[in-house]
Amino acid sequence: MGEKQATSLETLARSIFDGLLQIDLNGHIVLWNKGAERITGYTADSITNQDFKIVFAGSSQDSTAKSFDNISMISKTLTDGVEREGLITFKHKEGYFLKLLVRIIVIRNEKGKITGVFEIMNDNKVLISIHQQNKKTDQTVLLDSGTGIGNRAHIELKIRNALEESQLSGIPMGILFIDIDKFKDFNDTYGHLTGDKVLRFVANTLRQNLRTSDSCGRWGGEEFIVLVLDSNLDGLMKIAEKLRRLVESGGINEGEKELHTTISIGATVATGTDTLNSLLERADKLMYQSKEAGRNRTTVG
Ligand code: GH3
Ligand code: MG
Ligand code: MG
Repeated sequence: MGEKQATSLETLARSIFDGLLQIDLNGHIVLWNKGAERITGYTADSITNQDFKIVFAGSSQDSTAKSFDNISMISKTLTDGVEREGLITFKHKEGYFLKLLVRIIVIRNEKGKITGVFEIMNDNKVLISIHQQNKKTDQTVLLDSGTGIGNRAHIELKIRNALEESQLSGIPMGILFIDIDKFKDFNDTYGHLTGDKVLRFVANTLRQNLRTSDSCGRWGGEEFIVLVLDSNLDGLMKIAEKLRRLVESGGINEGEKELHTTISIGATVATGTDTLNSLLERADKLMYQSKEAGRNRTTVG
């Protein structure tokens, strides 16, 4: 029974992409999975049975940033059993430093006694940047309270940054300007609370169906913007049409009824000379062409 559990745990540890290591009460590393090998460059053979303080010694000497003190945090969790999470700067086997998001989880035996900790290491750039941003900014300043997605200031900042990067790197990016069709009718027929539900439905459809590198925000009223990185007009059209169809085929519960809504989209790729305003103005005009042509469609330009 005990052996079987150990086997399935080992199988799981081997197969996960993240780095996973286990430290016993004596501070010895007893498990170092393939993910940890991939991320750090150190093989399990060279690490197993080593003291974690030695393994992480070169990594916590980052005096410039107020980074997570991995060694003392692991020691604390071994004593108090509290889960901890933070960013560390790890020194790779080949000498360079890399940022990792780590989480320390306590391991207890059947009697509840602490027997060690797991540490999960994640080198996913998107997760790391979200973690950094969450720490730096007050979320409430950048979130739209009605829909829970980014607000105008947030998406504006994102577009400004993306535009600058795209113009430097030459990697294309684009935006979608999205407006809900005949939204006023919802308010007039069912009231503002239902109108708000429709707004949340569209916001969630956008948020849940974008790549992690893309972002969306509420521009105002019933207008939304989607920022798409690393994409030409063809790619932009595909994303726009996917979102348009998802909105069209979803449903909003209203008592016994299921309400349906559609969106009109303007899609455009940034040029080398675009500014935030010229880009938005073009996308807005293209969206308006979709309205004039009968709504529930995408116009690219
Ligand atoms: P079109 O297809 O041409 O876009 O028609 P439309 O009715 O969507 O366009 P219009 O701009 O005339 O109406 C937008 C409406 O959105 C008007 C405004 O009262 C409503 N609205 C703006 N913000 C909110 C909000 O936060 N909640 C609700 N319920 N309604 C809002
Ligand atoms: Mg509008
Ligand atoms: Mg509208």
